[in-house]
Amino acid sequence: MEKKWAFEEAKVLFELPFNQLVYDAQTVHRQHFLPNTIQISTLLSIKTGGCTEDCKYCPQSMHHNTGVEKGSLLGLDEVMEEAKEARKKGASRFCMGAAWRSLRDKDMPSICEMIREVKKLGLEVCMTLGLLKEEQAVKLKEAGLDFYNHNIDTSEEFYSKVITTRNFQSRLDTIECVRKAGIKVCCGGIIGMGETNNDRIKMLVVLANLDEPPESIPINKLIRISGTPLAEQEDVDPFDFVRIVALARIMIPKSYVRLSAGREQMSDEMQALCFLAGANSIFYGEKLLTAENPTMQKDNALLKRLGLRGEVCDKSLH
Ligand code: SF4
Repeated sequence: MEKKWAFEEAKVLFELPFNQLVYDAQTVHRQHFLPNTIQISTLLSIKTGGCTEDCKYCPQSMHHNTGVEKGSLLGLDEVMEEAKEARKKGASRFCMGAAWRSLRDKDMPSICEMIREVKKLGLEVCMTLGLLKEEQAVKLKEAGLDFYNHNIDTSEEFYSKVITTRNFQSRLDTIECVRKAGIKVCCGGIIGMGETNNDRIKMLVVLANLDEPPESIPINKLIRISGTPLAEQEDVDPFDFVRIVALARIMIPKSYVRLSAGREQMSDEMQALCFLAGANSIFYGEKLLTAENPTMQKDNALLKRLGLRGEVCDKSLH
């Protein structure tokens, strides 16, 4: 049974002197993970744009004028081509995201086929398909889905300032369905949407106190995309961001903490500090759904300079 966290306790941790916090996080990290290894995931948008939800940060919402065009669900051939490419480039997990509120039953056969075929490449498969019903989660599990991503984004209190078309509880309900079906959970949030440090800490407290915390915790830094309501949002203090990464590592010690969106806007030094604070997973590839991500050459150079190696996927299957 994992330790349960009170907000006050987490806040004390957050306010430690920076060096102490990062040292503590790195110490915890080494108890559970190899210190110089990074898990690498690749993310593909399998259905882009035109989403009915109003998430203020998202360029794919139909409520914002960002120039992202509405597409339809990709075909299996296109998905497989991208998955093979991701595998060749060193990804161990292939994540697929669809911009819609919830999975429609009529899309289920195509989605399950994608899962089955990508699995055959020896890659772990993750999907992010919005709100799920229990029976849908069971079908995804039967197809072989390893992870389901469903972020809580922020604290419960701040949630309605960012999204009004659904509520915080609906996120937790979907996460519960995913867990019940036996799929691993990928769940984190976004830093820099106007929330306070207390909101950020509260978000981590919710994640840490789930019956089973998520196995994978993406920590995104807001990408301020023109046309979204958060385009002019003030930038996050980089040290506050690193502190949140360190807190995630300490509070949820056995999970992968992923530096997700926003790496393109981070310096190499800031990313290195995040790795030191316990981040041990990244998205690899020049696109993160529709947003920019560092080029692979840039990432390879950074990993090499830091002496970090990518976790290997099961190549024996191919
Ligand atoms: S974050 Fe997801 S649910 Fe929200 S608008 Fe974007 S695609 Fe839709």
